[in-house]
Amino acid sequence: MSGIETTPFEDGSSMFLHDLPVEVLLLILKNCSAQDLVAIGQTCSHFRNIIASDTLWKSVCIKDFSVKTLGRIKSYYNLYSKLLHKHGWMLGTYHCQIEPYGGLFEIRYQDEEIHGINLLADASRPTGPLTEYLMFIIKSSEHDPQCVINSNTYHTGKITKTGEKTFTYICENTSAHGEEETEHMDIYEGMGLREGIIYKRIDIQNDQKLPQNLKLVSGNLCPQVISPGIFTAVYGGHGVEIVYFDFQNENIIHGLKITGDPNVYSGKTTIKFDIRHQVTPSIEEQRSLDMLKSFSPHSSVPVQSIQSQRFVIPGDCQLEADETPVPDRCIARYKADGQIAFDNFYNPSFSLVHVAVFNNDLLGAIWIDIGHFRFYHRVNK
Ligand SMILES: [Zn+2]
Repeated sequence: MSGIETTPFEDGSSMFLHDLPVEVLLLILKNCSAQDLVAIGQTCSHFRNIIASDTLWKSVCIKDFSVKTLGRIKSYYNLYSKLLHKHGWMLGTYHCQIEPYGGLFEIRYQDEEIHGINLLADASRPTGPLTEYLMFIIKSSEHDPQCVINSNTYHTGKITKTGEKTFTYICENTSAHGEEETEHMDIYEGMGLREGIIYKRIDIQNDQKLPQNLKLVSGNLCPQVISPGIFTAVYGGHGVEIVYFDFQNENIIHGLKITGDPNVYSGKTTIKFDIRHQVTPSIEEQRSLDMLKSFSPHSSVPVQSIQSQRFVIPGDCQLEADETPVPDRCIARYKADGQIAFDNFYNPSFSLVHVAVFNNDLLGAIWIDIGHFRFYHRVNK
């Protein structure tokens, strides 16, 4: 007799998993990983039949790959075994590491395929959604992605996993892109696609990383700080750039350039601030850049106790092109370091910036030394 035996009862009898009704077994097995299911299925024919239940494989697909919408699927087992098992590890948001421009990339599950999507900020809508360009598709049972930059030619690409959260992607026939390669492919100047582009995953939705001391009883972060995420901002003549704000530790909020420019490259810090360095200049002290420069004291009350305050942009500060009205109050204001550099990231240095938190989706930064104000807008998907 085969089967998985449970602990014997006190009267000496014992119960087998076999004896449980199938509905109950399915409820238990729903918590198992794919490997567990396969192992249990190998014990006997009874379990092999139960393991074949597609509802189990549906929960594995959702649980293991956080795929929220699977679409109409004929067989979740096939979806798992022919696509997600092999390629599901890639799903997520990525920083495309090409200097100086870089880029934001997403690997997404869609209708029994995996899509590689380039996300670009649109210069004409700095506050608007990012524009999506499909770069490659991986279909069930196929090993390699299909490059779809030019939809008229079928050619393959190659993905190589290089680490826990990194991979490289190569298109094997970039000459087939033709005209299509001009517009959105500008950031791949230098033909990174031919030599291999490095992608590094950004774990935005990782609640474990949030500093415990900044959480409210509700579990949300206190409003004086922002939750990690992707933001866009107008960087003067460089256009709209994409910045990822995250907690470097429980006190430092760090802005990483996902896209960059010939001055400060993708992958470099653009701005960082310590939430213990709160500043509260009076309206008079906010009138000019010089007055802000000479305003030095900062306080560090517990961040949850920071009171909202008046906010104005100094009269001699240039407002970067953005239609957003400037709020007259901010929830918190911090002394920050903003990175500047000459062409080719020559002689970089950190300059004085004040960051204002207007709400969880909107920051403002007065780059005091260079006399610019810019908004940072959260990209909401
Ligand atoms: Zn291609």
